[in-house]
This record gives sequence, structure tokens and C-alpha cells, in this order.
Amino acid sequence: MTQENKNLVTNYPSAKYSWLKSGGKISNLYKIHNQIDLINLFSNNDIKAKSLLVIGNLSNTLIKDEGFNGTGIKLIGDFTNIQINSDHMLVGAAVLDNYLSKFCYQKGISGYEFLYTIPGSIGGNIFMNAGCYNQEIKDKLISVIYFDINKNKIFEKEIAKLEFDYRKGFQKKNKIILYGKFKITHNEPIYIKNLMQEYERIRNQTQPKKVNCCGSIFKNPKNQTAWKLIKLSIDDGFYNGPIKLSKKHSNFFENEPNISAKSIELFISKIQKRVKDKYKIELEKELRIID
Ligand SMILES: Cc1cc2nc3c(=O)[nH]c(=O)nc-3n(C[C@H](O)[C@H](O)[C@H](O)COP(=O)(O)OP(=O)(O)OC[C@H]3O[C@@H](n4cnc5c(N)ncnc54)[C@H](O)[C@@H]3O)c2cc1C
Repeated sequence: MTQENKNLVTNYPSAKYSWLKSGGKISNLYKIHNQIDLINLFSNNDIKAKSLLVIGNLSNTLIKDEGFNGTGIKLIGDFTNIQINSDHMLVGAAVLDNYLSKFCYQKGISGYEFLYTIPGSIGGNIFMNAGCYNQEIKDKLISVIYFDINKNKIFEKEIAKLEFDYRKGFQKKNKIILYGKFKITHNEPIYIKNLMQEYERIRNQTQPKKVNCCGSIFKNPKNQTAWKLIKLSIDDGFYNGPIKLSKKHSNFFENEPNISAKSIELFISKIQKRVKDKYKIELEKELRIID
């Protein structure tokens, strides 16, 4: 058995692992432990030629029912490590937000408290420029270290040279985010802990808990709040049934599991139509839909 085959999972059921509990299968998902795995895998031109999908913690992704038939990548192993250096932290793309936040608290590093309440991974955060409570991942980053599958090589780019914007991070074709280099600022652990708890309190107060969702379905339009526009545009029917919005937060789903991706997409377009008809505003999806 080749190294490549050992790392291959066929027909990976995204619905089982995604936060939405919906979505098609990934026909070939390669688990990548380290840089050698990556270089070996992408030395194969057939694999390189197919379309690429990197998955993180699947908290913002829905794969269409037909499934994804290109090259799927899941980083594990070396990419779950955090290394503290004199002037920065090197954080693997597979590190989960909540884990990084708790790790920073233990080390007296402040600035990562907001990640305590986001269920993604650092790779997903850097791709999305994730954020909450007036902070975004770009504010904390020094640089992004990524693998270019066409050049079969690793590169590093400073954040100042990347045009991150609201929910638009490192969204580059055929590139895999491997690590983020992050700033370090120290503070008292009690300050850090209080902030983490405060963010958790706000989150619990304003958003549904333990539901099948993807966080915010839509981005906030400029100077507007998506949930308010939705709430004022829809009727009660949108809060009932197997695919439904949360009464607590109208930009969140509270779906039943194993709903087809097609029906979720249809539901999304119905919401977009209602908001467009009433406010002439086009809601843009934050959720990534993959085909
Ligand atoms: C309950 C809940 C609350 C949420 N709250 C927030 C919030 O407050 N703020 C916020 O910004 N988001 C929020 N989200 C959305 C989500 O957690 C973020 O978008 C997060 O950054 C996604 O990370 P992930 O690892 O789950 O990415 P995935 O969903 O797995 O992937 C998202 C995108 O990133 C790409 N990607 C992932 N890893 C890599 C990589 N290593 N290299 C290249 N591309 C990659 C994927 O291809 C995909 O296009 C929430 C989601 C849920 C379910």
C-alpha cells in the first residue's frame, strides 16, 4: 500500500461531520499529516489536475448533494500544533479556535478570546477572515504560510500584502493554508478568562445553542444587519418545518439533520427574494456552498 493510499478516505460523509448535518460526500479525501505528505500527493499530476477542496471543521460549508469529486484535503498531524516563538505564534491550520483560545489563556496571551466562541479551525478562519465582537482574524495575523499545489512549494505572505476584508480572507485558488503567524500580546489570565466568559455569555444570549447551523447564513450588507432585514421580510412559515430559521436569530438555521443541500439552497434563495422584494438589497451568502 502506498503512502498516498494510507491517507485516503473514500466517500467521506460530510453530512456526518458538518455543523449543518447536511451535504454530499467527498469522493476522495486525503488526510495530510505533514509537508512531506503534501509534496508527495501533489507530485501526482492527475491529483493536481482535479479541482481542490480543503476542509477545516466544516462549520461554514455545505457540499452539494452530488458530492465533491475532485481532490479533498484534510490537514491533521503537524498542522494541529501551536508553537510560541519570541515575537510570534505559529499556529497550524487544523488547530480549532476554541483550543487556541484556551491555550492562549493558559499562556497569558491576550487577543484570542473572541475565538473561544467560534467553532471553526484556523485554516477556515484565515480563508473567511472570521471574526466577532469587533475583531477579525486579520487583526491578529502577521503572515499566512501556504502551499501552492501548482508549484508544489510553500510560500509565506505578510498580512499587509493580502487584501483581507469583511468575511473575505485568503481565498486563493489552488492554495492550501498551512499556518498562520500570529501576534503575541500578554495580559493577566484573569482578564483573559473574564473576556472569554463575557463573549460566551453574549453568544448564548443572542444565538441558538446546539442546533444544526452554519453560523450566519448571510453576510451583513454595508451599514445593515442581515438578521433584521430577514426578520422584517419573512413570515412565520420560515420559522417552522425541517429547514427553518431560529426565532432567536433570524440569520441562523435550526435545521433537522440530513436535509438535502438542494432544499437548503432553495430555502436560502427564498429568503434572498423576500429581502430583495422588500428592501432592494441582495443578501450575499456567508455559507460556502461547494459543488
Ligand atoms: C454556531 C456557529 C457560530 C459561528 N459564529 C461565527 C462568528 O461569530 N464569526 C465568524 O466569522 N464565523 C462564524 N461561524 C462560521 C465559521 O465557524 C467560520 O467561518 C470559520 O472560520 C470556518 O472554519 P472551518 O474550519 O469550520 O471552515 P470550513 O467550513 O471547513 O471551511 C470554510 C472555507 O474555508 C476553506 N478552508 C478551510 N481550511 C482551509 C485551508 N487550510 N486552506 C484553504 N482553505 C481552507 C474551505 O475550503 C471553505 O471554503 C459560525 C459557525 C457556527 C456553526
